[in-house]
Order: sequence, then structure tokens, then C-alpha cells
Amino acid sequence: MAKEKILVVEDEKDIVELLQYNLEKENFKIQSANNGQRALDLVRKNHPDLILLDLMLPEIDGLEVCRILKKDTKTSHIPIIMLTAKSSESDKIVGLELGADDYITKPFSMKELIARIKALLRRMNPEAKQAEMIRIGDVAIDFSKYLVTQKGKPVELTTKEFELLKALINAHSRVISRDKLLENVWGYDYSLEITTRTVDVHILYLRKKLKSIADRIITIKNVGYRLELES
Ligand code: CA
Repeated sequence: MAKEKILVVEDEKDIVELLQYNLEKENFKIQSANNGQRALDLVRKNHPDLILLDLMLPEIDGLEVCRILKKDTKTSHIPIIMLTAKSSESDKIVGLELGADDYITKPFSMKELIARIKALLRRMNPEAKQAEMIRIGDVAIDFSKYLVTQKGKPVELTTKEFELLKALINAHSRVISRDKLLENVWGYDYSLEITTRTVDVHILYLRKKLKSIADRIITIKNVGYRLELES
């Protein structure tokens, strides 16, 4: 089995090193980010299995990082354990309201933290396994590997095309509006001039690349799209 990846978001170097040392001993793969922006970048790039998130961070703080990740359908499934200072009871509450999955108070026992990590990963896993792979007609999608095949042959999809396909799949054959797709797939790319027209264009690309299921990607005029999962 591949090592599970944990992203440690913390700006105090000593704590990062301590966590890295102890978690690697438990056979986890560790990456760390010392500020909120870098954490967001790493999550989107490397898809960690779990995030240890300190709340006190420079620039974008931990609560904001949590809010952004839990709002985005691409990252909302990733479990987050918050590291909080003992005094900040309200941070804890806000964090859990924002969707954090667990919290641990500093100073923490390494043994307890590791137990919490393992419990959380176990809790997430059955779900993750179910959704890891899906087949629609001749097309198979492996979410964990970002891999799509058609009639057994790999199909090259861009990240956006892949995310769009995923959003359609996650709607379970129901219609999903262009605005919603735009928000789910492009939500955080403020740097680009993106409109609902972008969604239409990418739907065209998807139909072209996934010919065998092109007619299952159905246009609902003036609303959006739906993907018929069952034939
Ligand atoms: Ca900190």
C-alpha cells in the first residue's frame, strides 16, 4: 500500500520537525507548509490524505485555510485536524463549524495525535475507496490516480476537464448549473477571465475526448449540464 500523505501546516520549525520525525516513524509521508498560501498550493498540487493545521499562521490564518478547503469540492473531503492553543476555545468552535474534522490542543501528546490521525484516516477510508473508481459505459475513471481510460485506452484530460467530469459525476445524474460548475471547477483561479462560456467550451472538449459517452453529457438549455451515469 502506498504511504498516506500528511500535510503539516505550521510556522514553528521545531514543531514541524518534531511532527515530521514522529509521523515518518509511523510510515506516513510528510510535507510541510509554513504559511497558509503555501498550504493551499500544496493541497491542490499533492492531494494529501490528511492535513494537520495550526491556526496561528502568518498571512492567511488556519481558520481561513480551513474555510477555503472545506468550501471547495475538490478538497472538502480531505480530513483536517486543527492544532489550537489552549486558550483559544472560540477558534476551536469556529474551526469545527467551518468543517474541521478534529482538533488537538497544544501542547499535545504525540501518542494521542497519532491515535487521532489513524482514527480519522480509518473513518474516511471506506468512503474514499467507494468513490475511487467509477465506470460509465466504456469510460473508467480512477480518481485516486487522476486517470481516465476509454475502451481500455488512456485519455489525456487537462486538470480542468478532469475536475469538470468529476463535478458532473458527483451530481449523480442530476442537472448541475453552469454557475455551480464554474464555482466548483474554476472557483479559485481569479487570475483568469472565466465565464460560463468557459464551462461550455470545456464540455465540448470532454464530449470530443470521451466520444463513447458524449451523448450522455446532456445540455439542459439555459440551465446547465447533467451526466447520465446509467445507460
Ligand atoms: Ca503557528
